[in-house]
Amino acid sequence: MARSRQQPEADREEILECVQQDCPHCNKLMRNKYDNYRTVRTLAGVVRLRLKIRRCYNSECDRFGYTYRPEAEGKWALPQQEFGLDVIALVGMWRYQQHRSVPEIHRQLEQCNICVSERTVSNLLARYDELLAVKLADCERLQAVVAQQQQVILAIDGLQPDMGHEVLWVIRDCLSGEILLAQSLLSATTKDLASLLKQVKQALSVPIIGIVSDGQQSIRKAVATALPQVAHGLCHFHYLREATKLIYEADRHAKKELKKRVRGVRVIERSVTDADNPVTEVVQGYCQAVRAALTDDGCPPLDASGLQLQHRLGMIEQSLERAVQKGGYPNP
Ligand SMILES: [Zn+2]
Repeated sequence: MARSRQQPEADREEILECVQQDCPHCNKLMRNKYDNYRTVRTLAGVVRLRLKIRRCYNSECDRFGYTYRPEAEGKWALPQQEFGLDVIALVGMWRYQQHRSVPEIHRQLEQCNICVSERTVSNLLARYDELLAVKLADCERLQAVVAQQQQVILAIDGLQPDMGHEVLWVIRDCLSGEILLAQSLLSATTKDLASLLKQVKQALSVPIIGIVSDGQQSIRKAVATALPQVAHGLCHFHYLREATKLIYEADRHAKKELKKRVRGVRVIERSVTDADNPVTEVVQGYCQAVRAALTDDGCPPLDASGLQLQHRLGMIEQSLERAVQKGGYPNP
């Protein structure tokens, strides 16, 4: 059936890279083969994903020519799906925890700026049901996929569409993109998560050679308990985001302290009003430079605004010192 509404335009782009850059079979560095694009409708807007696809170029390798997609793709959406996993998790929560009807869910999605037909809501619910019904141990198709690969790299993600409600935990295989287990849990203790990982490990007939996550404390401990010998990698995006939090906080504090030191700049600016005095222009020039430095924002973590402010105030200070040494009017 033809689509009755056009897919909305993406409002931002996310670039996803492979965390595992060496071929999992021959351990040789894989090169970027091409970029693949897909658009996903999430609760936070429409996102265009730019996926950096890698390929094994080692002609001696069993997997020569195989392509690998970024591990984080599966956290955004299921394969071939237009809607993000977060939307599916939310729809499932409304239906099964809050017992809302399809028309009610339809209206609520519209309030989240996700305008779809009621039929799409039913489809989303079907995807949610399928997700929770995945049983690796009983699924011949999944067993055949992982057996052919001879190994898996897991990814574990928790999707919490609403604070205080259940979290939908999804464990995927990054090499095939297949979901191996999905379960909704009210609490996510180390013990709960370790139990999920153990279920997957027991159902697998091939070794787990690595696991990727956002590195939150309970996941780290669960991996250490359930998969002690398995290498645990952090998704680049989450890694940078976590690092950003610390840098952002430290930088914000530094900027606040620096601002306190130049708080009197407006008083000085207002105190010089004599247009005939040449000092007036010079003082106002410096005051403007200080004010401009205060309002200039950076972009943490790589271009921190506190550090930028310190640099600019330092330049103004040096200029003033040079002026004092000359014994005349400062020359910025
Ligand atoms: Zn290879």
